[in-house]
Amino acid sequence: MLRRAGPSLRHFLLERNSSAGHSSCSREAKMSRPVQARRLEGIDKNIWVEFVKLAATYSKVNLGQGFPDFPAPDFLREALTRALSGGNHMLHQYTRAFGHPPLVKVLAQFFEKLLGRDLDPMTNVMVTVGAYQALFCCFQALVDEGDEVIIIEPFFDCYEPMVKMAGGTPVFVPLRPNPPKDGKLMSSADWQLDPAELASKFSERTKAIVLNSPNNPLGKVFSRGELGLIAELCVKHDVLCISDEVYEWLVYDGKQHIRIASLQGMWERTVIIGSAGKTFSATGWKVGWVVGPDRLLQHLRTVHQNSVYHCATIAQEAVAQGFQRELMLYGKPESYFVQLPKELQQKRDWLIQSLDGVGMKPIIPEGTYFLVADISPFKSDVPDVPNSDEPYDSRFAKWMVKNKGLAAIPLSAFYSEAHKNNYTNFIRFCFAKEEATLKAASDILQKWKQEKTSS
Ligand code: PMP
Ligand code: GLN
Repeated sequence: MLRRAGPSLRHFLLERNSSAGHSSCSREAKMSRPVQARRLEGIDKNIWVEFVKLAATYSKVNLGQGFPDFPAPDFLREALTRALSGGNHMLHQYTRAFGHPPLVKVLAQFFEKLLGRDLDPMTNVMVTVGAYQALFCCFQALVDEGDEVIIIEPFFDCYEPMVKMAGGTPVFVPLRPNPPKDGKLMSSADWQLDPAELASKFSERTKAIVLNSPNNPLGKVFSRGELGLIAELCVKHDVLCISDEVYEWLVYDGKQHIRIASLQGMWERTVIIGSAGKTFSATGWKVGWVVGPDRLLQHLRTVHQNSVYHCATIAQEAVAQGFQRELMLYGKPESYFVQLPKELQQKRDWLIQSLDGVGMKPIIPEGTYFLVADISPFKSDVPDVPNSDEPYDSRFAKWMVKNKGLAAIPLSAFYSEAHKNNYTNFIRFCFAKEEATLKAASDILQKWKQEKTSS
């Protein structure tokens, strides 16, 4: 208000406030100044802030926010202990701004193997505070006012506000479900892009597309054909690809995670994002990275050096050791990257059976540690409120945690405002949990089902 009041009135008010005896006016004038930057308009709500609090308050069993409740692997914890108590006291001090040398070196070695190309650890890799900061750097560094960024729905929720904060415009394209006709359970592979619809979203204004494979929340692992289609459009329209691959090791049923950067014409236009949180089951460490060509990463470094500058040295040291181990055991049965998906696949299958058993039909995920399930048979307990602003699945998930003690995330949280009401019959469960946790969730659902059938 004060800013908009114009110079003369503003001057008058400031003068008046600075004179003695007008302390209350002073408070009023200060309070009327708009404090919020315009770029924050409309992005103040956050599903994780809301549901983490609900889960902490009400849940007995938390399958909501995605984190393992089993320990990070011994070799990683031991690496951290060694770093902490070993002789190198410099591990408690700053390290290189763009990544602790041992970590960028081993990441470069690892990704050379995965991508089949030579990488320079100093220019093709940068370490970030989790994948979140990697994403933030990408949007800040590569998206300008007026640029469009294509986002595939459903999507990890922060892409939309991050594009907006950078001054860009998100353009959404849906994965459309194609349920199997034989009565079988749907799979995340049944959610597909319509090629013509996808092509129609690319224009001169398109600066980038965000790809998330394996996809959170559906667990979809994009096939070579689907990636080829996206790559072809990126090359044709000279568009960048921000490839969020934090679940790269979590793929099931012998599926292969294909890196879009390895497709023709894509390396030069792709930034790959990864997360030690997901890779080593240590989400609280917040170590992430980007891998890509220097022509893109140089701009991410500009954002990084002027914002975060540097990430915790000791956590980077331990993650570096974790990767050194994995490099040695690459492809072998003892490798954590081989063992973790095996264990998670069993947990996935267990939860699928349990949900199917109570009629909450799951969509079988090909990757990630999330599973989306259809809540239809339980809806009668949570009546619809016509014309409510809140999507039905969100009210359902809140009711469920408050009344049944089971936390999950509504699927609408992964849709843009305009499309939030398209799929309101689904909630997302995280199955990276101890057997006892999954069993406790199953017990809650079975008891609920019994109460429903006996009432
Ligand atoms: N991308 C996706 C798809 C995610 O699910 C998450 C959540 N962990 C992130 C990025 C952020 O990862 P981090 O915890 O490493 O910041
Ligand atoms: N990526 C995790 C999830 O999807 C956690 C997100 C978060 O806490 N912001 O559940």
